[in-house]
Amino acid sequence: MNDRNTKSPATTCVHAGTYRDDRVGGVNTPLYASSSFLHDGSPGLDVGYPRYHTIPTQAAAAEKIAVLEGAEAGLVAASGLAAASSTLMALLDAGDHAVFQADIYGGTHHLAAAELPRLGISCDFVRSTRVDDLMAAVRPETKLLYVESPANPLMNVVDLAGVAAAARTRGLTTVIDNTFATPINQNPIALGFDLVIHSGTKYLNGHSDLCCGAIVGSEDLIARVRERLINFGGALPVFDAWLLERGMKTLAVRMAAHNANGQALAECLAAHPLVTSVRYPGLPADPDHGLAAAQMRGFGGMLAFELDCDATRARRIVAALEIITPAVSLGGVESLICFPATTSHEKMDRREREALGITDSLLRISAGIEEAADLVADLEQALETT
Ligand SMILES: *Cc1c(COP(=O)(O)O)cnc(C)c1O
Repeated sequence: MNDRNTKSPATTCVHAGTYRDDRVGGVNTPLYASSSFLHDGSPGLDVGYPRYHTIPTQAAAAEKIAVLEGAEAGLVAASGLAAASSTLMALLDAGDHAVFQADIYGGTHHLAAAELPRLGISCDFVRSTRVDDLMAAVRPETKLLYVESPANPLMNVVDLAGVAAAARTRGLTTVIDNTFATPINQNPIALGFDLVIHSGTKYLNGHSDLCCGAIVGSEDLIARVRERLINFGGALPVFDAWLLERGMKTLAVRMAAHNANGQALAECLAAHPLVTSVRYPGLPADPDHGLAAAQMRGFGGMLAFELDCDATRARRIVAALEIITPAVSLGGVESLICFPATTSHEKMDRREREALGITDSLLRISAGIEEAADLVADLEQALETT
């Protein structure tokens, strides 16, 4: 509930959800590594079992994310895609239709395109983030609208309050992947969204050493998602839940550094003669800057850009980087760079990719928390490579 989130985000990151076991008095949530818990046979007792998401270590991580997002309830899952697939299975039945923004994370696009039709669920992918264009795809049998903002990898921004309001008039359930923004930079539930999904693998955990996901929303919707998470076996193992809750304690301070470094790298690229375009919502010249400034508290650490050279030279420039590491994934403390066409969006049909603007030469940076001046100097020296 929104009124649970009365502390500032940095304080919430450290304290919300953290479970104190009075028997030992430790300040951290204990790691309850047990897959069997006492049960005397009485009816109605909560069964302690990791797959049921009933372990306090899991509940602590889920509660921290729920409070940060201003949601009533939450769940942690074995990956961002376990969170997304459980949510889709909870909300859609055979005969239903779902509308997705087309330029979402490639794995989510592939999940919907490959799995939903097999279950008799139809879906449309809309190549626009405008409210009117998304709503134009809605049919009488549409049940769900799924967006991502800022979206991976092009950093397109969706008008969240506008989408949520329009979807409500049509009785749709709205779902957003808030991975890029994190609850520090953006709270979609306050803007009218029903469910918020995270790939916790990225900023929430923040140290590139864990795969996990989360879903938060109302008690009712989360109860429905929880049943699918249990049936399909997507719960987060307790060791990983423990690491996730530990990682999130520094989320607010990390995001401040990611926001500053994203801005510094975007400004460096925007001013460089070899760069033909940069997408970063924090640049005043970005087409989505106004929208982002209205609904986000920070612009994040993700940016995308194109170079005025062929792919071979682009790969040489990437190879010349000394700090920014060529690697997949994002949201960790270290700065990373990748070509989305051959990584996050490789499974997307080439024509679809090109129609969206995810070209073979598009580069995506995940700005880490290193010193901004070091990152800018690294990028500038690599761009000298011919
Ligand atoms: C990585 C990612 C996912 C998928 O999460 P996993 O933890 O890899 O399953 C979903 N959405 C976005 C925006 C991502 O970056």
